[in-house]
Amino acid sequence: MNTVQALLFAIHREANQPVRLMEVCGGHTHAIRKFGIPGLLPDTVSLLSGPGCPVCVTHTGFIDQAIHLAQNYPVIITTFGDLIRVPGSGQSLETARAGGADIRIVLSPLQALSLAETERSKQVVFLGIGFETTAPSVAATILTALERRIENFSVLSAHKIMPPAMAALVNHQPNLDGFICPGHVSTITGSGIYEFLSRDHGIPCVISGFEAPDILESILLLIRQINNHQPKVEIQYKRAVKPEGNMKALEIMHEVFVLHDDWWRGMGIIPNSGLVPGGRYAGFDTLQRFSLPEFPDTDNRGCRCGDILRGLITPPECSLYGKTCTPESPAGACMVSSEGTCQAFYRYQN
Ligand code: SF4
Repeated sequence: MNTVQALLFAIHREANQPVRLMEVCGGHTHAIRKFGIPGLLPDTVSLLSGPGCPVCVTHTGFIDQAIHLAQNYPVIITTFGDLIRVPGSGQSLETARAGGADIRIVLSPLQALSLAETERSKQVVFLGIGFETTAPSVAATILTALERRIENFSVLSAHKIMPPAMAALVNHQPNLDGFICPGHVSTITGSGIYEFLSRDHGIPCVISGFEAPDILESILLLIRQINNHQPKVEIQYKRAVKPEGNMKALEIMHEVFVLHDDWWRGMGIIPNSGLVPGGRYAGFDTLQRFSLPEFPDTDNRGCRCGDILRGLITPPECSLYGKTCTPESPAGACMVSSEGTCQAFYRYQN
């Protein structure tokens, strides 16, 4: 019996009551679908996908705000590739670019900073999205901008942290039995950020890697915690995650960013869940440089990304899935992003 077979054997033997487990990492969502894991599990184990895709949780108001900025000020907007195709309430950054707005795709925040260094006469705005995984690199870029006195660079930040969203999910999803905790986020944060979930809410947590045996072992560890009524935080992904996390990256992130109440698609405003440049770095916050209106979160008609991100439905339950919404012609963020749940279901068809 190989490792996968042994893990599946143990899961089938020990999953003797219904359990609902949620992953909150787009990488896990895709790995689970790619390896066909749901089809290998007993009927007692349900896997739900939560708000783990950074592009997906970025609400339409942020996209509308970026488009407004690009169309009304002499700026260069820089963004990662996935975000450019996400529909705002009216158009996407891609269609705004086709209409003449100066919107450019970059591979890193440092590339955006280099652009600012060569285009000194223009303001260069980086659209900062992502969780604790990406926030430190953006923070480091801001530190570099300060050091090199590059004053025409700023960040329109939709950066978010995971624990407040997981707390909100627990409150909205009383039937949630455990979290498959994000592997990449945890390499930065360590395991301590999840302890309140097991201690205060009785929710088992396992930080998982991304290979099939990792995910299966994490599921088995969660089932054992549930069966033993001993919720705690375990690290399955020991080859990458240390309990204390990456201290240097955390230090940089906390140096540059401060917490604020932030919008999450489908979940509304979650207190202290977002990161913006603060203190002596507040001048790098785009919102401090331009007077921008706030835009509400308005999903496209018929798109149920908000329900997908809370684990309330699966993509095939959306009436647009696979019909008017496909990766080639996406109607919502969850189909645009390479980490989105709808794209994962569509690509792997399970
Ligand atoms: S299938 Fe498309 S329209 Fe439906 S929820 Fe997913 S992204 Fe939105």
